[in-house]
Amino acid sequence: GYRSRAAYKLMELDDKDKLIRPGMAVVDLGAAPGSWCQVVVERLKGKGRVFALDLLEMHPMHGVEFIQGDFTEDAVLQQLENLLGEQPVDLVISDMAPNMSGMSVIDQARSMHLAELALDFAQHWLKPGGNFLVKVFIGSGFEELVKTMKPQFDKVVIRKPKASRDRSAETYLLGLGAKRDGKTGV
Ligand code: SAM
Repeated sequence: GYRSRAAYKLMELDDKDKLIRPGMAVVDLGAAPGSWCQVVVERLKGKGRVFALDLLEMHPMHGVEFIQGDFTEDAVLQQLENLLGEQPVDLVISDMAPNMSGMSVIDQARSMHLAELALDFAQHWLKPGGNFLVKVFIGSGFEELVKTMKPQFDKVVIRKPKASRDRSAETYLLGLGAKRDGKTGV
């Protein structure tokens, strides 16, 4: 079985957009407890690499190289980058969500910040043509994030998998086809 129901969201997104293919290098941010990793590992069919990161511990998984740490810390990012070496990746997926404080302004700002950091990472590490999937909450900062992403990808789409229907503000942004130089959109 899957470690979390989040698995069904990624399966639905991947069934529609064909994000995961054997041979790929994939980075999973906010990976614990690991159900997205399970889906990625299954769909890579033993060919490819998976790098995962989370604040929390994650039970080890065959085929996944895991780092425990806070993605907002430079030292942790550096650890992940060391693991990648010089190899760009095909797909970056981020399901990161902050611990909810209950104060919506703060929670929204924190979650947008995580999404922006994930986008920066994707911009640096995706191969041209690579894809980026990120969880976001519709609210303050959402439109700006979409605007920032647009020049960096051939196409940016909003996806709301059925499995997250009950979580009203939760949605996923998908950047398809990373441009060679995302900073200038060329
Ligand atoms: N996709 C996962 C799965 O399928 O098992 C579920 C991810 S869960 C919704 C969100 C995760 O983001 C939590 O495990 C949380 O610890 C992680 N997270 C939140 N802030 C983080 C940060 N700053 N650095 C790393 N992970 C973070």
